[in-house]
Amino acid sequence: MRRRLICGNWKLNLGPASAAALAGFLRERLAEHGDVEIAVFPTALSVPGVLAALAGSDIGVGIQEVAAVPSGALTGANSAVMAREAGCRWMLAGHSERRQFFAETDEGVRDKIRAGLAAGLRPVACVGETLAQRQAGEVQSVIRRQLDKALEGLSPAQTSDMALAYEPVWAIGTGVNATPEQAQEVHAFVRDWLRSRFSPEVAQGVRILYGGSVNAGNASKLLGCPDIDGALVGGASLQVGAFADIVSAACAGR
Ligand code: PEP
Repeated sequence: MRRRLICGNWKLNLGPASAAALAGFLRERLAEHGDVEIAVFPTALSVPGVLAALAGSDIGVGIQEVAAVPSGALTGANSAVMAREAGCRWMLAGHSERRQFFAETDEGVRDKIRAGLAAGLRPVACVGETLAQRQAGEVQSVIRRQLDKALEGLSPAQTSDMALAYEPVWAIGTGVNATPEQAQEVHAFVRDWLRSRFSPEVAQGVRILYGGSVNAGNASKLLGCPDIDGALVGGASLQVGAFADIVSAACAGR
C-alpha cells in the first residue's frame, strides 16, 4: 500500500519569521500523524528558518523551484545542489504557476527534475490541464504530453523516487476543486501511463497527489479514491487547523 503524502505549497507567502512560526505550530499540532508523510514548501528565503523549526521532526521541507544546472551565471535562480545542502529533501517541478507566469516549458520541467534527482532531491512533478483544454476534450492528451516530457529518459528507480501531482489549472486557488470522480479518472490514467511507460511495479509504487482547492471539507472524499495517494495543498496549507485536518483525512483509511 502506498504511504499517503500531504504537501503544503506555501507559494510566495510567509517570510522567514512567519514561516518558521507556522512550521513550529505544525510541528506541535502534527506530532501524531500516523503513517502519513508530510512535506512543506516555503519560499526559498524562508527555507533555513523552517528547517530549523522542524529539526528532528519527520516533516520534510522542499524547495519550490530549482534551476536545471547546479551553479553558474543565473541571477535569481535556486540550485538543487544548494537546496539539498541546506537540508531540503523535496522539490516542486512543473507547477502551473511556473508554467503560466514564468514561461516554463515541458523541456524545462524535465531538465529541472533531472537536476533535482541528481542532487538527491525528490521531485513532485505537477501536471494538469486548463479549463479550455478540459472543455475541448484534451485532458488525456495534455497530461500524456506533460508526462512524456517531464519523465523522459528517467529510469524506473529515479521515477520511484518522485511523486506526481495532478493539478487541474482551473482548480488551483479558485475554490473549485475537481470532483472525486473527475480526479480519480485522471489519476487512473496517470497510473496507466506509468504502467505502460515503466512497469506494473513502478505504477503501483509511485504516489499520485491531487492538487487544486483541497480543504478540510473536501479532503476525505478526494483521498478516499483508490488512485489518489495524497494532496498538494496551497491556500489551506497556510492555516494550521485546515492543514492538520487534511492530514487527519489522509490518516483515515481509503
Ligand atoms: C497549489 O498551489 O498547488 C494548489 C493546489 O493551490 P490551492 O490548494 O490553493 O488550490
